[in-house]
Amino acid sequence: MIARIAVGLGLTLVASAVAGRRLWWLKRLAFSGQPAPERVAAVREHVSRDVKTETTEVLGQRKLLKWTVPGTAHFLTFWGFTILLLTIIESFGALFDRTFSLPWIGHWAFIGFLEDLVAVGVLAGIITFAVIRLRDNPHTEGRKSRFYGSHTGAAWLVLAMISLVITTLLIYRGAQINTGVFPYPHGAFASQIAGHALAPLGYGANAVLEAAFIIAQVAVVMVFLVIIAYSKHLHIFLAPVNVLFSRRPDALGPLEPMRSGGKVLDFEEADPDTDVFGLGKIEDFTWKGLLDMGTCTECGRCQSQCPAWATGKPLSPKQVILDLRDHAFAKAPWILAASDEERDKLPEAVKAEAERPLVGTKDQHGVIDPDVLWSCTNCGACVQECPVDIEHIDHIDGMRRHQVLIESAFPQEAATMLKNLENKANPWGIAEDRRADWITELDFEVPVADGTIGPGIEYLFWVGCAGALEDRAKKTTKAIAELLHTAGVKFAVLGPVEACTGDPARRLGNEFVFSMLAQQNITTLNDAGVTKIVTSCPHCFNTIAREYPQLGGHYEVIHHTQLLARLVAEGRLSPVTPVEEKITYHDPCFLGRHNKVFTPPREIIDAVPGTHAEEMHRCKDRGFCCGAGGARMWLEERIGTRINTERIDEALALDPDTVSTACPYCMVMLGDAVNAKKATGAAKQSLEVIDVAQLLVRSVRTAPPKSAADRSVK
Ligand code: SF4
Ligand code: SF4
Repeated sequence: MIARIAVGLGLTLVASAVAGRRLWWLKRLAFSGQPAPERVAAVREHVSRDVKTETTEVLGQRKLLKWTVPGTAHFLTFWGFTILLLTIIESFGALFDRTFSLPWIGHWAFIGFLEDLVAVGVLAGIITFAVIRLRDNPHTEGRKSRFYGSHTGAAWLVLAMISLVITTLLIYRGAQINTGVFPYPHGAFASQIAGHALAPLGYGANAVLEAAFIIAQVAVVMVFLVIIAYSKHLHIFLAPVNVLFSRRPDALGPLEPMRSGGKVLDFEEADPDTDVFGLGKIEDFTWKGLLDMGTCTECGRCQSQCPAWATGKPLSPKQVILDLRDHAFAKAPWILAASDEERDKLPEAVKAEAERPLVGTKDQHGVIDPDVLWSCTNCGACVQECPVDIEHIDHIDGMRRHQVLIESAFPQEAATMLKNLENKANPWGIAEDRRADWITELDFEVPVADGTIGPGIEYLFWVGCAGALEDRAKKTTKAIAELLHTAGVKFAVLGPVEACTGDPARRLGNEFVFSMLAQQNITTLNDAGVTKIVTSCPHCFNTIAREYPQLGGHYEVIHHTQLLARLVAEGRLSPVTPVEEKITYHDPCFLGRHNKVFTPPREIIDAVPGTHAEEMHRCKDRGFCCGAGGARMWLEERIGTRINTERIDEALALDPDTVSTACPYCMVMLGDAVNAKKATGAAKQSLEVIDVAQLLVRSVRTAPPKSAADRSVK
C-alpha cells in the first residue's frame, strides 16, 4: 500500500510540476501582450450574456455540433471527460484506501452506470475520431483534408492516451469487482463485463491487476496532463476562457478600431515611434490575440471553409494562427527576458527567431507570407466556423494595417484605389458630380439633399459608390428607387456629397483614409439631420451601421432587401407579374454571415409569382464568397483559380435561369464569371446575374416585359 501511495503521489507531483511550469510560462507569455481592457469591461458588463454564451458554446458545444458526426463525437468526449472526473477522484482515493468511495453518492447504482456509460461513450467518440482522421487523411487527400498542416502525430498520441485512460479505468474497476472492493453494487455494466472477463484469473491475480491498474490509471492521467499542457489540447483549459473574452456577438461585422496600449488610436496625436500601428511584431498582439493562438485546436474547420484555400491560394486561416503561435512560442524567451544582458545569452536560434519579420517572403524568413496576408477576402467563414471563437480577420487586418501604414507594403494595384478615395471619394476616381447621374434616367423625381434632407423624408437612400457609378450596380439603384417610389416611401439621396464609406480602405489596412472618409460622411449625415438610412450595398450597410458608431455616427440602418421584404409583407408592394424562372440566390458575405440577413432576400424571391428558388450547396452562413471583400475587388487574383468562377460553377450545377444576389460587389464578380462562362459556351446566353430588387421590380410592374431586352431595368 505504501509503495502504491508513493508511486501514485510521486507521479502526480512530478507531472503537476512539469505541467504547472508550462502553464505559468504560457500565462507570462499571454500577459506580455498588449492590454485589451475593452474585453474585460465587456465581460463585467454583460454577465448574463456571457453565462448564456458559455452554456451554449462550451457546455452545449453549439458550433461543434454543426458538424454532426465529429461534433457528436466531441460532445461525447467533452462530457465524458467531465463526468469521468469522478472516476479520477475514485482512482486517487483508491491509492490510499482500496475501499474508497465518493462521499454521499459513492455507492449509488446510477453513478456507477453513468460513469460506465460515459466511458463507453468516450471510447465511441475516440473510434469515430480515428475513422475521421483515417478517411480525411492529409497524406492522401492533400489540401482537401481539413487536417492538412495540423500536427497529426500529436493528435494520434492524444487519441491513444484517451483510449488508455478508459482501458486502464475499466480494467481496475473489473478487478475491483473480483476482489470485492468495487463501490457500486449495480449499474456499472461495462466494469461488470471487464470483471467477468478477468474473473477466471482468480483473486490473487485480480488483486495485483487492481493495484497495478490503479497506478496505471493515475500515471496515464498525469502523463495526459503534461501532454495537454504542451500540445494543441491546451484548448481543453483555454477554450472556455477564449470564448468568454471573445467579441460579442461575434468577431464578424465591424472591424475593431486601431488601439495602442489599450486605447483607441487618435491619428492626430499618435506617434509611430511609441504607439502600436497595427500588428508589426508578435508583441503587438493583445493578450487576447495570443490567447487565440494558444487555443487553436487545429481542427481545420476554418481552413475547410476558406475560399482562398479552396481555390489554391497560400492562405489557410488555420495555418496563419499556427504560424503565429509557433513564432510566439519560439520567440518567447526573447520576449520574456528581463534585460538585454539576458537576451544576449539566449541561444542563436531564439535570437534568429526574434529577428524574423512578422510579414515577409520566404527569402526574408517572414512568419506570414505577403501572399497569405493579401489573399483574404474578409468573408468571415473562418470566424463563423471556429468552435473556440478565434478572431482570424482581426489578426489578418491588423497585420495589413501595419504593412500599409508603416511599411507602405501592399499590392501596388491598390495604390490607385487609395489615391482615388483620397482625391475623389470613390474607388474609381470618377468626378463627384457624376454620383447623381442615375437620377436623370428615372421618370420620377428623387430629392437630393441640399444641406438637409428636408421634412417628411423617412429614409436617406445611401446609394454607395458602385450603386452611383458602376453600370451594373446602377440598375439595382434604379430598381430600388422605383420600388420605394411605388410603395410611397419618402426618401432622399445625398448625391454629389455622398463619399465612399471607407470600407475598401479599412479592409485594405488604411485606417487613416477610412477614418478621414468616415468623419466626412458622419459630418454630412449629422448636418443633414439623417436618422434612418437604407443602403443597397452590404459593405456600406456594415460600415455605417456597425463601424460608424466607433466614430460617433449613430443611425438606424437597414439593407434594401430588409425594407423591400417589409414593404411586400405590408402590401405596399405587390409582385403580380409572374417571372417563370429557376433562381438561385448567392448570399453576400457582408449581408449574410457578417450581419445575419439571410431571410429577407429569400422572402422577396418567394413573393415573386412563378419563381422556382433552389439553394446552392454552400448557402446562408456557409455561403461561399464571390471574391471581392477585404478590398480584394481592387486586387489582382494571380494565384490559384478564381473564387468567382468556383462560385459560378456551383450555381451552374443547378442550371438556373438567374443568379440573384443583393450586393453590387457580388454582381460584378459573379457577372464577370458568368460572362467568361458564356464566352466558352459553359453557360447559356440567357443566364443573368441580378439583384433581388431588379427581380422584384419586374414583377411589381403590372405590364410584363415586351422582349428580352426589357429584362433589364432601364
Ligand atoms: S475571412 Fe474568409 S478568406 Fe479570409 S481567412 Fe477567413 S475564410 Fe479565408
Ligand atoms: S482556428 Fe478555430 S477552426 Fe481553425 S483550426 Fe483553429 S480551432 Fe479549428
